[in-house]
Amino acid sequence: MTDCIFCKIIAKQIPADVVYEDDKILVFKDIHPKARIHLLVVTKEHINNLAGFKTEHSEQMLHMLFMLPKLAKDQGLNNGFRTVINTGTEGGQVVDHIHFHLLGGSVLPKM
Ligand code: 5GP
Ligand code: ZN
Repeated sequence: MTDCIFCKIIAKQIPADVVYEDDKILVFKDIHPKARIHLLVVTKEHINNLAGFKTEHSEQMLHMLFMLPKLAKDQGLNNGFRTVINTGTEGGQVVDHIHFHLLGGSVLPKM
């Protein structure tokens, strides 16, 4: 999608601190980290959010889920981590391209 900031990062039109990439996902550091480690895990295909999630996206989402513990381990998050998906305006979603926040590196406040 042309005016999507995450699609531009995926297309390397905007720089990002990328920590992992494969054919389905890109993982990079959040520009405004909310924890010592704060990664964004995004699908390479533009999907707006969980509300726009379809059966054909299942493989990508499952791949993201399986990658999360590996990505956390690579960041040294051996004592746990938090994952968040914001959906829609009231869910606090700012970038309309589906992404997991992967947070950790200290004891996070209880939700
Ligand atoms: P949301 O609120 O949509 O769940 O999260 C979007 C996240 O993207 C925010 O945490 C924000 O800091 C991050 N972000 C927005 N623009 C950029 C950018 O250009 N580069 C990077 N690395 N992160 C971004
Ligand atoms: Zn996008």
